Amino acid sequence: MSTIAAQPYTYVKNWKERTGGRVFGYFCSYFPEELLHAAGVLPMRILGDKENVALADSHIQAFICSLVRTSLDAALKKKLEFLDGVVFPHSCDSIQNLADIWRYNFPEQFSDVVVLPVWVDVPEAEQYLAQEISRFKSKFERHLGRQIAGAELSKSLDIYNENRSALAALYALRRDKPNAISGQTVLDIVKASMYMRKEDHTALLQEALEELRSVPRDDDQSVRLVLYGNVCDDPGIMHLFEELEAVVVDDDLCTGSRYFLHIEPSDGDPIRRLAQRYLRKIPCPSKHSSDFDRRTYLVNMVRQSKADGVVILLLKFCDPHAFDYPDISKRLTEDQIPHLLIETEIQPASIEQTRTRLQAFVEMLKEKKNG
Ligand code: SF4
Repeated sequence: MSTIAAQPYTYVKNWKERTGGRVFGYFCSYFPEELLHAAGVLPMRILGDKENVALADSHIQAFICSLVRTSLDAALKKKLEFLDGVVFPHSCDSIQNLADIWRYNFPEQFSDVVVLPVWVDVPEAEQYLAQEISRFKSKFERHLGRQIAGAELSKSLDIYNENRSALAALYALRRDKPNAISGQTVLDIVKASMYMRKEDHTALLQEALEELRSVPRDDDQSVRLVLYGNVCDDPGIMHLFEELEAVVVDDDLCTGSRYFLHIEPSDGDPIRRLAQRYLRKIPCPSKHSSDFDRRTYLVNMVRQSKADGVVILLLKFCDPHAFDYPDISKRLTEDQIPHLLIETEIQPASIEQTRTRLQAFVEMLKEKKNG
């Protein structure tokens, strides 16, 4: 799965060649990809591009997050020509801008925006989202020239539930035995699930879980960290944790647990189930819920995973996360949880400054832990 995570487009192109199937790209963990799966289409998460931006700057401002800029750049460089369609959830203004620019530059490609409610727990949200999903489904079906039966969608929802349960089991195992698997490998497994057919991924993951269950628990005294933030797709940073002998025990990341947590019960109308799943998933800072306090959620995660500190990985120019950061930092300080903010970009940057800051943070945590 680490090979797939390192070269996801190669994997997807091979899948397409092998099966003759179609592939649709999507942004953000708020797109109800189960609909694509139910039609036999492979959903593929677009997570930016590691090359420096060359073409996108004449279309989009330089102060937009690098997830959006490098993804557009990759498309303009014709690196995403193998995609049969691209779909955007309205997660933030940057994604909405990207959707408009994309439509303008690639008019021949299928694209659509699914507009989710910002307040996910108001009474009207479920009815509204069910209608919006149905609208997208009809457009998608017209494009494919086939209908998606209710039973097909229900089956896909069950397959996704199974995959989410297996990923949750992996996280529980890692909390208990962080020595058994590196933080990078865990993120690779989650990332691979965004490119493989879910049933194939679940089968591989079940085998990996079997092996991991037999690894003995090691009561080592490594510094235990929780990661918080948006997209983390930088092996350089993850390897730094290993180099500094700090273990990642849990995360609240768009490319980590926030992608798969929340499993919706398996009966009822599939469109309703889909709407409920995306309204009840752990919200990201672009969504609001009067029921959910992100600060308390993070503090509880730290306590439950017995973490010594939090590393906040924020993709530069991400407004929703940046607006939340002061509140998160304040609460962690009030609860005496040490934390460190690291700004990231999708394109790999020099790691030296990050190494120095992370090293100082981990050393401080080691001293605190060992008295
Ligand atoms: S990283 Fe932030 S700004 Fe960029 S697409 Fe995600 S939510 Fe929007």
